[in-house]
Amino acid sequence: MSPWFAKAVVLASSILMVIIRAPHGQRSRGIKVVKSRAGALETVLLTLAWLGFFIPLMWIATPVFAFADYPLHPAPFVAGVLCLGLGLRLFHRSHADLGTNWSITLEVRESHHLVTGGIYRHVRHPMYLALLLYSSGQALVLPNWVAGPSYLVAFGFLYALRVGPEERLMVEEFGKDYEAYMARTKRLVPGLW
Ligand code: SAH
Repeated sequence: MSPWFAKAVVLASSILMVIIRAPHGQRSRGIKVVKSRAGALETVLLTLAWLGFFIPLMWIATPVFAFADYPLHPAPFVAGVLCLGLGLRLFHRSHADLGTNWSITLEVRESHHLVTGGIYRHVRHPMYLALLLYSSGQALVLPNWVAGPSYLVAFGFLYALRVGPEERLMVEEFGKDYEAYMARTKRLVPGLW
């Protein structure tokens, strides 16, 4: 298959991602942060995640990663498009349900409330699940050993190192309510994990 299929899909999904997030980012920025756990580790992890997100766009626009290209095959391409589609749908759903309680980093905002409804009824971290699906989709669709898995690796680190501190912050803020929520839900996969 021509790599142009991968380029079109990666570009379209990246644009959709930005379109879904933009209004929520803008809304949240207007609400005061009352507690922040955004330390040096968060800065490193977020910078890595941004890099991981932009490297595929550099692969589209420049030949810098051409040395790591490999041929594109239909089966991983189709599987990747499905993961990207599912990831984007879940990303949209979780942003809608989390509303103004969303932050790019570990923060509590003014009148922050605990969300346990909508998609959050099924798992505690649907947005992270969305991003894991999205980044896996990108790794499958994009036929390059560097740019393909770049976001999956970066986001994998962010997830692994952030999810514990985020849950501790939520317990600190919402106490028994979050503990009860933790007792009846899993992190990423309903009933499993
Ligand atoms: N981990 C969640 C949210 C990611 S956004 C998910 O994957 O869907 C990160 C911010 O969301 C954190 O700073 C935290 O303040 C907030 N947050 C996480 N879970 C929440 C919940 N259930 N209700 C309200 N805010 C939550």
